[in-house]
Amino acid sequence: MNRSAVGWLASASGRFRVRTTGLCLCLILSVFGCRDSSPTRHDPGPDSNPGRAEFSLSVPYAEASEFKYIFPGFADSDTTGAPWGFSHQGLDLIPAGDSAAVIAPCGGVVEELKVYQNERNGQWQVNMTVRFDEAYVYHLLYEPRAHSEAEARVQRNAIPFSPGQRVDRGDDLGRLYNFSKGDMSGGDVTLHFDIWKNGRNICPEPYFTPEARGAMLALLTARFPAAQLCYP
Ligand SMILES: [Zn+2]
Repeated sequence: MNRSAVGWLASASGRFRVRTTGLCLCLILSVFGCRDSSPTRHDPGPDSNPGRAEFSLSVPYAEASEFKYIFPGFADSDTTGAPWGFSHQGLDLIPAGDSAAVIAPCGGVVEELKVYQNERNGQWQVNMTVRFDEAYVYHLLYEPRAHSEAEARVQRNAIPFSPGQRVDRGDDLGRLYNFSKGDMSGGDVTLHFDIWKNGRNICPEPYFTPEARGAMLALLTARFPAAQLCYP
């Protein structure tokens, strides 16, 4: 993620109070069945009750082999000693091939699914916000190196959810595509993952299950041996 995406996240966070009213209404409506659920939705899992379950994270991919490494990991500033050498508030997962399956690392309600033009490189991406409860939010930014809004809409339409719908841990969140046509000057195709607590972008590491933490660390050390996932 870059600075403009951070700006988007900050403004998305600022709109939370306005959105909460709509979100509550939408949750109430969904109880009465007036909002159709996604075709991929399955029975509620153990974390299906926002506010009661503890926030914990699985990996955001279906197959580890579809990602080659994490670059960069989380660093709170440019001077943390992180081997990538700059600030980055999240984990960037880089696909190994031309597409990769994304799954929900945690349950929640889709708050936003936005086709977004990155101000830094002019490329188009899809920013997904999922709210676990009042405190915790996570983001999945699909950065397929799209050069047009139309390509980004193809990426958007690969995600079988809409704002207001509930996702459960492990739900299919579509495939991350590659629209770079070989031009990686704007960066690698990336799945950016981050979490926020009470409006603050924080290190996700303590929230991963032990298995997920090990898997994410393995992806990071594939690129940076002996590195940590987060540098506060
Ligand atoms: Zn990123």
